Amino acid sequence: MAISKKVRAAVEQGSWIRRMFEDGIKLKEEFGSENVFDLSLGNPVMQPPKEFYEKLTMLVSSPNPGMHRYMPNAGYFETRNAVATSLEKEFDFPFQADDIVMTVGAGGALNVIFKALLDSEDEVVIFSPFFVEYRLYVDNHGGNCRVVPPSSDFLPDVESFQQSLNKHTKVVLINSPNNPSGVMYPKDIIEEIVNLVHEAEERFDSEIYIVSDEPYRKIIFDDLEYPNVFELHNRYIVATSHSKDLALPGERIGYIAVHPNIDNKTELIDALIFCNRSLGFVNAPALMQHVVESLQSVTVDVGEYQKKRDFLYPKLIKMGYKVVKPNGAFYMFPRSPIKDDVKFTEELLNHKVLVVPGTGFGLPGYFRLSYCLEDSILEGSLSGFEAAISKYSDN
Ligand code: PLP
Repeated sequence: MAISKKVRAAVEQGSWIRRMFEDGIKLKEEFGSENVFDLSLGNPVMQPPKEFYEKLTMLVSSPNPGMHRYMPNAGYFETRNAVATSLEKEFDFPFQADDIVMTVGAGGALNVIFKALLDSEDEVVIFSPFFVEYRLYVDNHGGNCRVVPPSSDFLPDVESFQQSLNKHTKVVLINSPNNPSGVMYPKDIIEEIVNLVHEAEERFDSEIYIVSDEPYRKIIFDDLEYPNVFELHNRYIVATSHSKDLALPGERIGYIAVHPNIDNKTELIDALIFCNRSLGFVNAPALMQHVVESLQSVTVDVGEYQKKRDFLYPKLIKMGYKVVKPNGAFYMFPRSPIKDDVKFTEELLNHKVLVVPGTGFGLPGYFRLSYCLEDSILEGSLSGFEAAISKYSDN
């Protein structure tokens, strides 16, 4: 077979999420899907908000001529303008349509950003636990990842972060609220990160970009506020999507927003637009751009996710699991009761509960569960969680 050696190795290694997905299919065939409790995927069960269907219906029933044609690679002006207006309201910065590039989801946005920024030898700092695809995305564009471990509560360990910075550092990638932990970084931690970035830029006479991957920015609980990083650092780029906040992951619609006062903005934006094209995305899906133009202030019912967290979290704690209470997204990252997280997920599998070992997120000894699911699945999973931890309760 003549496929690339690198791709072959990556495919063979597979991903833990994929493996759990395949195990889930087998279990469902054997025992019936109602008897299998699959908490392994971050695929929201919630339907998109009613405004989504209203706008879609309107567009389909009275289509504008040309609405399915090619457009400028950055996306429609009207959509970018709507995103800019909404960001201006949220962060009190004068965003303009030209600061925005519409993308094929957050994954597309990150690939476009890395393609535009990275040369070989450049490093991207990522904080564990991290979204599984980061390593692949960085590798796609010739960069190298440098992984920083967490301190307590899955916040970045600032001392290790400082040590990770060097003359090759080009990007610091943050993801908050975080997949897989559900933790949102508070402003003081972000300030520490930004200060160390400034210090490193001086020390190495370099330019470091903070890239914030924030598909869960609008899914935060307990009336917490999302920190305004635009106030702290000009070399700041946001990658996001409506996969989670409008429950549209299959529609592949997202955007990049660059800091309105970023240096060499025209060159950077031109590079991002060029990469959107040269990576073959060309532009974000036209129909979805028309739809989300009017949905920038609409979000799925975040209260529903909070309710699910408030259902599951105390139950797991009562059973004896050690869990950091998530304040956003729809994941929890409990500590595995035994050191070997893979073995523990296999034990859960014996009870027909599917989760993903922390190893898959760069942090062994934990496991990730998604709770963006039907209540019946969460309820049904409880006896399996209980039985699995009881087996190791003397550890
Ligand atoms: N970043 C994080 C942290 C995610 O959890 C996900 C998807 O689960 C993505 C990026 C990719 O998002 P999208 O589906 O919009 O490409």
